[in-house]
Amino acid sequence: MDILFVNARVCTPYELRDAAVLVRGGVIEGVFDHLDAPAGARVIDAGGQILAPGYIDLHVHGGGGRSVMEGTPEAITAMANAHALYGTTSILPTTLSMPLPDMIRAGDAVSRAMKDESCLSTILGVHQEGPCLSPAQGGAQSTDALLIPSKVDLRALIEECPSLRMMGVAPELDGALELGRRLSDLGVVASVAHSDADYDTVARAALTGFSDVTHLYSGCSGVVRKNAFRVAGVVEAGLEMERLTVQVIADGCHLPPALLRLIYRCKGAEKMYAVTDGLEFAASHQEEGVTYVQRNGQACVYEDGVMKLPSRTAFAGSVATMSRLVRTLAKVGVPLCDAVRMATDTPARRIGAAKKGRVAAGCDADLLLLDDRLRVTFCMARGRIVSETGEPA
Ligand SMILES: [Zn+2]
Repeated sequence: MDILFVNARVCTPYELRDAAVLVRGGVIEGVFDHLDAPAGARVIDAGGQILAPGYIDLHVHGGGGRSVMEGTPEAITAMANAHALYGTTSILPTTLSMPLPDMIRAGDAVSRAMKDESCLSTILGVHQEGPCLSPAQGGAQSTDALLIPSKVDLRALIEECPSLRMMGVAPELDGALELGRRLSDLGVVASVAHSDADYDTVARAALTGFSDVTHLYSGCSGVVRKNAFRVAGVVEAGLEMERLTVQVIADGCHLPPALLRLIYRCKGAEKMYAVTDGLEFAASHQEEGVTYVQRNGQACVYEDGVMKLPSRTAFAGSVATMSRLVRTLAKVGVPLCDAVRMATDTPARRIGAAKKGRVAAGCDADLLLLDDRLRVTFCMARGRIVSETGEPA
């Protein structure tokens, strides 16, 4: 059945325009100044709401109580469907650094979930966050699972996993630059992740295949003083180097408004994209002050809208949804179209998903309606209606 959206402010996301959007066979047929409904079409009156592309989350560990590390296709589908209620129509399920067999199993589960018809959103592939990360910037990753690239056989995670799309690696580790080259040769995004590297090391990495920085500022070295001289780190490299895109956890907790604006000024909406880094606790209800245990055994406390390590010395991952990230970006002063673009078109391009992230003819009909507070009131994924009642409170 054709579906025609009328009376919508369409955020393409390159512009906002009053337009009608026709969906046919799961694909956007066209965007029109005006269109009379084709015979038999269902007409949805947007009532002046914003019609935006579905959100794309390239870094998310779980949601709705389910985790990628369960290692089953059912868990992947369940977490994807939980996030879909908040407007995420494409997802790159992301592992945690755990023993290699667990990471391999999770990658395999994602590959199988990609074929699951009951999954409402599109599973784009798997993002392996690790296992080659720096213990010095390990954060909530379990440090005993961290490995050195030159000392480990990663073929089962990389060459033997056709769904691998992104891998987080600390480029200062022995063998990491070769690993970056190997990943980029396979069309996999090599992302500087949980890294204590200095600027020069990141610059070398950017010349040998690395093209992205994982959650900028989190698990990233910054400027330090060595004797009298200041040495820049991963943060400064991410901000300064044009070749690098950066992931930003724009949940309003991980980064204060000034840093979100600083990153936006340096990178623009083309090189900066929003990720939830959501744990299994994301897209579900938590009680303030309660301690939860992640599947890797890491305990974390829910407080102030975020998960913290019990010591409260670091965050342990977020409970955010893409919907909250877009609201946060808009609230700190990012223009609406750019805030939406960082959650749609920019991650789509980053991962090479040509039919995602835009409201344009020929793209998949992944569409959201947003009210004036930018809450998702309606979500469609590939022409299928996911929710017409709005995101859960
Ligand atoms: Zn993560």
